[in-house]
Amino acid sequence: MYETHLREAVLHEASLCEPMDNMAVRCTACKLRCVIKNGQAGVCGVRENKDGKLYLLVYGRASAVNVDPIEKKPLYHFLPGSEIFSLGTIGCNFGCAFCQNWDLSQVARNLRERLMREKKNAFIEMEVTRYGYKLLPEDIVKICVGKHIPSIAYTYNEPAIFFEYLYDTAMLASQYNIRNVFVSNGYESEEALDAMGSNLHAMNIDLKAFRDEFYKKLCKARLRPVLDTIQEVYKRGIWLEVTTLVIPGLNDSDGELKDIAAFIASIDENIPWHISAFYPAYKMTDVPPTSRSALERAYDIGRAAGLHFVYVGNVRDLKRSATYCPKCLSPLIRRDGFHSSIEPAFRKAACTNCETKIPGIWE
Ligand code: SF4
Repeated sequence: MYETHLREAVLHEASLCEPMDNMAVRCTACKLRCVIKNGQAGVCGVRENKDGKLYLLVYGRASAVNVDPIEKKPLYHFLPGSEIFSLGTIGCNFGCAFCQNWDLSQVARNLRERLMREKKNAFIEMEVTRYGYKLLPEDIVKICVGKHIPSIAYTYNEPAIFFEYLYDTAMLASQYNIRNVFVSNGYESEEALDAMGSNLHAMNIDLKAFRDEFYKKLCKARLRPVLDTIQEVYKRGIWLEVTTLVIPGLNDSDGELKDIAAFIASIDENIPWHISAFYPAYKMTDVPPTSRSALERAYDIGRAAGLHFVYVGNVRDLKRSATYCPKCLSPLIRRDGFHSSIEPAFRKAACTNCETKIPGIWE
């Protein structure tokens, strides 16, 4: 945690929204595109309509801040071995029953639902702004410059929902050649991606399942918009990695894992796919952790689908967390936990053995 002595965080008018009749507004930060009546908040619980204007209630209010190894995001083909400043607020547009950060992500959403039930909508601002502590964009960039941290991740909860906060941070960061990363559930609106433009350098998008039923029942969301975002992000040339949390009995059948791998491969076989181990959390404490054999099976399915870079994470697996040259299979980057070491066979973004270029942002 870092101290800040700068100005008060204030209610911040949202930029991603459209006015509607009767003082309603449409929020355009994420693909839910909530229509929000005067005096109410959107589904995420942190964007409130006050007198026909939309405000972001968590601007300059960080609820989670860490300096992490970039491998923890996970990003394996983006500045390996570097540190990344990681920022999150409360609130989320998804309601995942297995969320590992539920104490942040679900708090504003649950508050909103409770206040709506109790017909106390007007209290949302007071309740939400009690969370987090002041950390303004200039504070964040100052820390990164001072500590030579080369990138910032908007993570822990869905970045799109605190868009204006991250946008100001990202624009300032870009002036100091600090790069910006979204760790996302894949619900960014086109407007959000347009606004970020070339100031968004990498994304890790969760593809949580390949069945709409899973998204509807366990995430309170839909599959199709996530697939659209993955395709769109790739098309825009933003560096992209995809993560799937493999949950026993819910998304770990051969058929579903094959569908996920085939979808990623149909876009580009060079997109890294992270297969992540589930641990019981939030509303799913009765589901066991992912077995080794399921992770290994998912890895084999990914490789068989033609994906060149498949990684097992959230457990120690030296063999399946390393990067190999897709042509000659030389090991190029080895990883142990969040520590990575570049092998002599990997220089200047290529395998020195066979000169195959390895996709990614390496410096
Ligand atoms: S960011 Fe929040 S308010 Fe805006 S559309 Fe998404 S869930 Fe609704």
